[in-house]
Amino acid sequence: MEKEWLLETSQMTKQYGRHKALDQVSLHVAQGDIYGLIGRNGAGKTTILRIISGLAQATQGDYRIFGKDSRQAALERSRVGALIEEPGLYPDMTARQNLKVKCLAMGMRREGYIEELLQTVGLADTGNKKARNFSLGMRQRLGIALALVGDPDLLILDEPINGLDPQGFVEVRETLTKLNKEKHITIVISSHILDELSKFATHYGIIHNGTLLEELTREELLSKCCERIELKTSDTGRACTVIEAMGIRNYQVKDEYTIHIFERLDDSGDITMALSKEGIKVLGIALKSESLEEYFLNLTGGGKE
Ligand code: ATP
Repeated sequence: MEKEWLLETSQMTKQYGRHKALDQVSLHVAQGDIYGLIGRNGAGKTTILRIISGLAQATQGDYRIFGKDSRQAALERSRVGALIEEPGLYPDMTARQNLKVKCLAMGMRREGYIEELLQTVGLADTGNKKARNFSLGMRQRLGIALALVGDPDLLILDEPINGLDPQGFVEVRETLTKLNKEKHITIVISSHILDELSKFATHYGIIHNGTLLEELTREELLSKCCERIELKTSDTGRACTVIEAMGIRNYQVKDEYTIHIFERLDDSGDITMALSKEGIKVLGIALKSESLEEYFLNLTGGGKE
């Protein structure tokens, strides 16, 4: 049976005049994911988030959300909370007053509801402080609280960690992790900094120039970036037999010529010798370790914009 996605886009394309902001993007978000959409400035992240939030329309392709296609998606809007670009705050109002306006507009009148939201995002102690005097982290957390009005099952956040200082980042990250774990809210969050997202996202979509290059789980991402020996030989099959005979178990065959070995990282010399003894040509052997940021830069074409 095909997996039922909470949110899925199929070959979604968005054209602005002759410029393709998105080119056949097919991404997949399951219930309970924290899905990090990662791409440089202008990659197309905001455009995707605007379309799935109902703020823009795709030129071609479609998306499904909560099992409904985009034409029926309006019925599910109340299950989606979004913070796209700047949070629309009233600067002369406190956090409570800002939330009150949104609650009134959305018909949320439950006693204690605003206090709960303030607690959830860690703004319960802000008293009479006006939003204009909030730090960027506090503003983002208030934006998240506003997106939470109506108790959505899916939260869509566009660059909420952009520009935050380390403390602000930790506060937003902890807020989002808590919402995901305790309230079971699925989160789609965009960023241009993979390193930060990697501290809490469970799944990743890497977008570049409007194209989704790769979707991967957190484990897949970390395994791509960890330290390893990259071995290239003329005969992968026989090479595996040799390294297994050396007691090496933690390795992966990447393609016809390449094997990644994740243990005994100081033993490249012994490995080369053992292979040569069996008449297997070593085309290359090197110790590699990529940081997440390097991995992302390589995938998106080096340091070039
Ligand atoms: P950023 O972090 O800078 O917002 P992004 O990944 O969110 O980047 P988008 O805002 O989705 O990128 O933009 C993708 C591309 O589409 C960019 O080249 C942008 O200039 C273009 N674009 C976005 N909105 C419009 C618009 N309304 N009219 C014309 N071009 C647009």
